[in-house]
Amino acid sequence: MPHRSIPGARGRVRPLSLLSDPVLHAPCREVTGFGPQLSELVEDLFATMYAARGVGLAANQVGESLRVFVYDCPDDEDVRHLGHVVNPRLVETGGVVVRGPEGCLSLPGLEAGTERHDEAVVEGFTVTGEPVTVHGTGFFARCLQHECDHLDGGLYLDHLTGWRRRRLLGQVAKAPWNRDQAGGGESGS
Ligand SMILES: [Zn+2]
Repeated sequence: MPHRSIPGARGRVRPLSLLSDPVLHAPCREVTGFGPQLSELVEDLFATMYAARGVGLAANQVGESLRVFVYDCPDDEDVRHLGHVVNPRLVETGGVVVRGPEGCLSLPGLEAGTERHDEAVVEGFTVTGEPVTVHGTGFFARCLQHECDHLDGGLYLDHLTGWRRRRLLGQVAKAPWNRDQAGGGESGS
């Protein structure tokens, strides 16, 4: 499709919201206006996701409490899935529950084995208001569930229990981006 522009090419790379930001912990608002501002947000999400080398990004991860996410994500067969969903609803999950490595651009550099369904179906709209249905399996199904969680104010951390959760929280406490954000502690070393 040479006549189509590359997603994110016109977008602006925005600062990422990190774990302690309240915008990540509250449900996002439904999108009601399908105008140029929404297209701009989707472009910014792509630009920011690519700059951070992510496979998915939700709008609240760039500080916008709106129900939108973008993705460019392989499945387990290495098929690439590229797109965006406005006002997504996770309408179906199925298949086996698989624990696999999962990370998040709002907890940079960290990951943990997280349980997800192997199949997921998301319904929503495109940036121009056309209905869209996205089917995912494997790693892409994981991505769809992860991004839907974000828009409800959730994180993959919420799915962890026991030592996996304790270990990740310990890594968060020691992460440079977390210390910087807290603004406390001693400088140096
Ligand atoms: Zn995430």
